[in-house]
Amino acid sequence: MRLAGHRTEDSDKSCLEDKGLEEKKINLRDLTLEQIRQFLEDMGEKPFRAKQIFSWIYKGAETFEEMTDLSKALREKLDQVAELRSLKILRVLRSKTDGTRKYLLELEDGNTIESVFMKYKYGNSICVSSQAGCRMGCRFCASGMDGLRRNLTPGEIAGQILTVEKDTNEKINHVVVMGTGEPFDNYENLITFIHNIHQKEGLGVSLRNITVSTCGLVPKIREFAKDMKQVNLAISLHSADSAVRESMMPVNGSWPVDQLLRVCREYAQNTGRRITFEYALVRGKTDTKQQIQLLAEKLRGILCHVNLIPLNEVRETGLLGSNRKRAEEIARYLEQNGIPATVRRELGADIQAACGQLRLGEVKRK
Ligand code: SAH
Repeated sequence: MRLAGHRTEDSDKSCLEDKGLEEKKINLRDLTLEQIRQFLEDMGEKPFRAKQIFSWIYKGAETFEEMTDLSKALREKLDQVAELRSLKILRVLRSKTDGTRKYLLELEDGNTIESVFMKYKYGNSICVSSQAGCRMGCRFCASGMDGLRRNLTPGEIAGQILTVEKDTNEKINHVVVMGTGEPFDNYENLITFIHNIHQKEGLGVSLRNITVSTCGLVPKIREFAKDMKQVNLAISLHSADSAVRESMMPVNGSWPVDQLLRVCREYAQNTGRRITFEYALVRGKTDTKQQIQLLAEKLRGILCHVNLIPLNEVRETGLLGSNRKRAEEIARYLEQNGIPATVRRELGADIQAACGQLRLGEVKRK
């Protein structure tokens, strides 16, 4: 795994500068175990304490006071130079049918993000945000409508898990980075976040239980294939037709779909891992016979799985979703053509404003 020097000093600085927090205490939630060790050493403290501090952080400690196996003197000293910045729950929507909870969380600077907690047969899962807002500008998506506010720090991404574990009193063992933001547009912090939650002193989440979803930043997909071989990759494809894709996803202008699919083919060959393609079904646009035939043709031979998602309608976009029957027909067609496909099960349908809508409502109110 590449984590050269972990997050570099530069990126540490930039994450502080991003927030205009140069004068503030250092947020230990943003650091790796190795960086906490260094931090302690620089303070003249015993570096072996780092493991204790790190594991307290991932047990959800929000103050140094709670770290009862550290001396009082050390706790007080830490309190003067460092902090554990936690997230504030602004709203929770609870599904009455399946245990799904959707959270609107506030960061220290007032920005808001969303996270979703879901219960599956195989365990508890969370969908986390990687940025406040997004600059990818996908036409159908509520998350990008207000542009990018800023990148989340590693501690703010992990903080979503810690906050939700505390609120639900449940352990989370599956993580999908599919909330607001483009994770590969915040690459270094994403890698640190994954590294931290994977550590056994952290949350001990298995890399195979983590999925990162991207709209298709090709160079970063290549990098990720080297850095995080065991993490699952999901690609927001939504159309295999370059013109149609570009009309919905500006990113296709920089990395056209054929280039994206080439790197996906390489990825599957080099890592032996199955890629998930997310495919939003937009009525009359991406769900037509011709579009689906092209999809089947272009995916042929790639180790993959297609996740069909009838579009969640966002009023502002004017785009409509396909119905369930059409989605199931498409899944059958793909299967018959040798491409595994499923229609996304809707969890929390009773609370499910489309992705990012809770936050968009909040941003507009402000
Ligand atoms: N930026 C990343 C991850 C966040 S979006 C990405 O693009 O993959 C998570 C998924 O939700 C993506 O597949 C995105 O295209 C999809 N999505 C966004 N808005 C949607 C909507 N209104 N209906 C259906 N899927 C949507």
